[in-house]
Amino acid sequence: MRRAHDALGGAAYEECANCGELKRPHHVCESCGQYNDREVTAGEEAA
Ligand SMILES: [Zn+2]
Repeated sequence: MRRAHDALGGAAYEECANCGELKRPHHVCESCGQYNDREVTAGEEAA
């Protein structure tokens, strides 16, 4: 079986800078709700 394509696909994760949990890159952390040092749980822009 060829496995050359196995590197991509599946779940990519990175460590949350805030709580250290594994989270999706470029997504809000599901554990602490932080993204790029901001809390974005509400899904609203706090102006
Ligand atoms: Zn987090």
